Amino acid sequence: VSGAADDLVEVLAGIVGAAAVLTASDDLAYYGSDRCRGGWPVAPRCIVLPRTVEQVQAVVSACAAAGAAIVPSGGRTGLVGAATATAGEVVVSLERMHRILEVDATGLTLRCEAGVTVEAVQRAAAEVGLMYPVDFAAKGTAQIGGSIATNAGGVRVLRYGSTRAWVLGLDVVVASGELLQLGGALVKDNTGYDLRQLFVGSEGTLGIVVGAVLRLCPPPAATVVALCAVPDEARLLDLFAHVRGGGVTCSAFECFDAGALRAVLAHKRLASGPFNPPSPQHALVEFEVAAPGDAMLQAVQDRVAELLADAHEDGLVSDAALAGTPQQARDLWSLREDVSESLHRHRPHKSDVTLPIARLAEFVPAWRELVAARLPGAVPVIFGHIGDGNLHLNLLAPPDEDPAAWHARCEAFDAEAYALVGRFAGSVSAEHGIGLLKREHLHHTRSAAQVELMRAIKRALDPRGLFNPGKIFAPA
Ligand SMILES: Cc1cc2nc3c(=O)[nH]c(=O)nc-3n(C[C@H](O)[C@H](O)[C@H](O)COP(=O)(O)OP(=O)(O)OC[C@H]3O[C@@H](n4cnc5c(N)ncnc54)[C@H](O)[C@@H]3O)c2cc1C
Repeated sequence: VSGAADDLVEVLAGIVGAAAVLTASDDLAYYGSDRCRGGWPVAPRCIVLPRTVEQVQAVVSACAAAGAAIVPSGGRTGLVGAATATAGEVVVSLERMHRILEVDATGLTLRCEAGVTVEAVQRAAAEVGLMYPVDFAAKGTAQIGGSIATNAGGVRVLRYGSTRAWVLGLDVVVASGELLQLGGALVKDNTGYDLRQLFVGSEGTLGIVVGAVLRLCPPPAATVVALCAVPDEARLLDLFAHVRGGGVTCSAFECFDAGALRAVLAHKRLASGPFNPPSPQHALVEFEVAAPGDAMLQAVQDRVAELLADAHEDGLVSDAALAGTPQQARDLWSLREDVSESLHRHRPHKSDVTLPIARLAEFVPAWRELVAARLPGAVPVIFGHIGDGNLHLNLLAPPDEDPAAWHARCEAFDAEAYALVGRFAGSVSAEHGIGLLKREHLHHTRSAAQVELMRAIKRALDPRGLFNPGKIFAPA
């Protein structure tokens, strides 16, 4: 599908109202791309802001009739260019479909429209004493539809899994304009292929998610949070094994290095960090307290303090801060959660990979060696969800580097770095997806047979290539 009929904007205005079709250049720029600046053109034909499922269906049918491609658009916090419109596509933004439709505190489910933010879902769950446990720093802007389309992970995957685990039902508008209602509030449903899961992580290439039924769960009674100063990456992994076997439930095990902390301190205008002397590596560890009551909380705090003391004795941590109040816990968490945003203004070259946990200690030095050899002067900054084997590898350009030259050098570096990930049996994308950014590297993780099968699924659901062309793989 390419181009668009001349009268398409008018037809779309007839469906959603003239005020809900945007064509001003500021709007095209604003809605036309996500957080990834990959150097692609940002050139949507127009932006459509439907309010109802029926409007989405009519918009899809009108675009199909006009042969105009569609980019489904959420909060545009994505980091791989998957929500970017590069060639005259119609961007369908779900931002006006943001209602929470029902919270069922007995069935532990929440039904919502796709444009509601992840944070609003968390709040609605909390209002009835429940929890939606998918949690990540962009939750205030990222939408449920976008988080489903990317199978968002975040900081508690270790304990609760990715978005995929929390999607019970999905309403999706497909290329024919039909509404598919897949699953619902049923916990059990073995009726053949799970079509619903096909759409989770599909990056807007198979249809537009317009609504979802999400699972909720009871929250822990309390949490205990510790920040540990760790000498190096190898000991981070030893510390992970140590706390995981320590008899308390670990709900997050996150890491960030000295460079990441420096960026956060500068961003927050803080003169000094949590440890003196500064530490090369940090582990932010969260434990759950299962039952209410001061005694339970105290017991978990005591056990965590013991675990950290043992870790100190064994040389796994050089120092540690245990939060004594919820505010202190939030302050420690913010040092980890603010890393991505703090680095953003330095325009790092980013990469999100996952490795088998057992091979992380070998992979990181090999990657650092590659950086030193191929990008001398570049500053590596590593943070991530190390409990899931998921590292965010960032590279800051040497001072005075010409941006175009840096971009070209990074592209050449990526080819080698993703090949390295493949050799370590890792994935070229842990949680951000493939989008435009990584489609040339997909083959390091997916075999030719798998990619062909994915293309066949795309052809079956979207034979004319209406949805998000060029994302995940180049158009056939
Ligand atoms: C500071 C920061 C921290 C982040 N931390 C994490 C993290 O810890 N874990 C993580 O996994 N990600 C993280 N991300 C990435 C991003 O927030 C997630 O990928 C998020 O799920 C994207 O949601 P969105 O609504 O912004 O989607 P968008 O960026 O708008 O879109 C992403 C993809 O989904 C498609 N899409 C959007 N809405 C729909 C819909 N309704 N139907 C069909 N397709 C749709 C788009 O076409 C695109 O392919 C982070 C991003 C930032 C900026």
